[in-house]
Amino acid sequence: MGPRVLIVEDDPVIAGEVSRALEANGYVIEACSTGRGAIGSASSTNPDLVLLDLGLPDLDGVHVCRLLRAKLPHTPIVIVTARDADIDVVVGLDAGATDYLAKPFTMAVLLARLRAHLRVPVSDPPVTDVVVGALRVDRSAHRAYLDGVEVDLRPKEFALLVALTTEAGRVLTRDRLLEEVWDLKWESSTKTLDMHVHALRRKLGLRADGAPWISTVRSVGYRFELA
Ligand code: CA
Repeated sequence: MGPRVLIVEDDPVIAGEVSRALEANGYVIEACSTGRGAIGSASSTNPDLVLLDLGLPDLDGVHVCRLLRAKLPHTPIVIVTARDADIDVVVGLDAGATDYLAKPFTMAVLLARLRAHLRVPVSDPPVTDVVVGALRVDRSAHRAYLDGVEVDLRPKEFALLVALTTEAGRVLTRDRLLEEVWDLKWESSTKTLDMHVHALRRKLGLRADGAPWISTVRSVGYRFELA
């Protein structure tokens, strides 16, 4: 049996198209059209991934996301929003969503995202090294190596690198990074964060394939790219 995907979508046309595309690719589908239905299904079906439309008829989608996250602490939740609803995306990610898709999306993009999230381990991060391509982050020794050569990092730069690489492939919001790295949000600012990201980019350079390690996700935050 393929991975189980819970589709929460009140638009029957979209729900039908997505279900057919996923089933054709070996996924096992459970679909529901309301937030309450999603919360009920989450317990009974224990899905491997949830695709959650934020615009639902009965409950606020972000609230549903929070409830699903509480029930399914390690399950990827991909939220679906109308295009350019940046605020929804930020709030949704802070509510525990793993990633987002903007409508309209193509089935090719959807399938690629699902493959990525079902491949990335979403359990608690291990206490061992984090390896992303040529980069190795030794969290116990507070050191990072690129192709075996140590990268000289200041303490906050290292903490930021740990936060980003531990969840490589996922978008991390600015608020979340500020909380994790600087603890006290009100003593720091997004400018501080941006400066540290800039420093990390300068010290890491580009990957072997010429792509940047850290992508800026407009109006949302940053993503450390999987190699
Ligand atoms: Ca909707």
